Amino acid sequence: MKWGLIGASTIASQFMINAIRSVDAGTVKWVMSGSQEHGERYAQDHAIDNATTELDQMLQDPQLDAVYISSTNEKHCAQAMSAIKAGKHVLCEKPLAITLDQAVTMVRAAKQAGVVFATNHHLRNAGTHLAIRDLVRSGRIGNLLSMRIFHAVSLPENLRGWRINNVQAGGGVIPDIIVHNADTARFHLDEDPAAVVAISGTSGLGDGVEDSVMTAWTMPSGVMVLAHASFTHQFAETGLEIYGTTGSIRAKGIMTQRPIGSISLTDAEGSHPVSYSDHELYTRAVRLFGEAVTGGGRPGADGVDGIKSLAVALAVREAANSGAKVSVDYGGY
Ligand code: NDP
Repeated sequence: MKWGLIGASTIASQFMINAIRSVDAGTVKWVMSGSQEHGERYAQDHAIDNATTELDQMLQDPQLDAVYISSTNEKHCAQAMSAIKAGKHVLCEKPLAITLDQAVTMVRAAKQAGVVFATNHHLRNAGTHLAIRDLVRSGRIGNLLSMRIFHAVSLPENLRGWRINNVQAGGGVIPDIIVHNADTARFHLDEDPAAVVAISGTSGLGDGVEDSVMTAWTMPSGVMVLAHASFTHQFAETGLEIYGTTGSIRAKGIMTQRPIGSISLTDAEGSHPVSYSDHELYTRAVRLFGEAVTGGGRPGADGVDGIKSLAVALAVREAANSGAKVSVDYGGY
């Protein structure tokens, strides 16, 4: 497949360009940046043939099959709509957009245009998360009771820009990390959070946006979910725990971009390590996306998954701001 990058971003540089190139000799043909200078340097650094500041110039390339959108969050919607209009398949970064209406508009437009639209929720592609989901689905821990997600990290220095000071660009730990937690809970529990309560605040980095949040969710089945996300915890470890009536799953170091971490299963017989596949997360995401384009398969996370994770994040922010319990509005999905 021939790809265009929309946004000369860190995530594309660190993971996605390699992932695209490692799936069936995929090609990154274009990069679009708001800055000519940054775009050209980025193209040179990553051996990309074409750099432009004009999205339409990229989209007019008839050879281009798909775009990967990893600009700042407030740009995703307009860029995705242009790509869809041009008939390109879209892999869009999370959060899909700033508002639920925007995300719904994007996903509906892609469906109408008959192009594949996916959300880059990479954690679903981790061998660790796939192994955990298999355990849950197979009934290995019995009926589910509760889940706790630990996703407090120290935001790397090079990412301490719009994420910590620009609410218009989609900054804040809620749009940045809670969307991943929401998708992870949905992936493992196979249901959507119904209502949320939350507290948020700043603890050292946030300037006009929250850098830390703790939030609890009710699930339709009665399962309870607790999620902690932060940019300011230098010595914390990520992970999750899922408790059931006949066992529990504890996983450490797995809310990450790399195929690492450990999982243990505890039941009446004791505690047992769980093995998992250590494939690259983003490569699997790109492979599934390609299969959806060529063979009608399902991407790792589709547009509706992106709508739902955004819906939970928006409810969490509303709950944190108001102090009230907020029902999650999924925009009809
Ligand atoms: P960056 O801050 O690296 O990039 C965002 C935009 O900032 C770029 O598109 C670019 O704008 C501009 N930019 C970046 N570096 C420079 C520079 N040196 N000079 C000028 N402009 C620059 O963001 P991230 O890569 O961290 O995040 C991008 C998107 O990806 C977000 O939506 C984020 O939520 C998502 N993300 C997803 C992850 C995942 O695992 N699914 C992980 C990390 C991020 P321009 O568009 O003009 O080129």
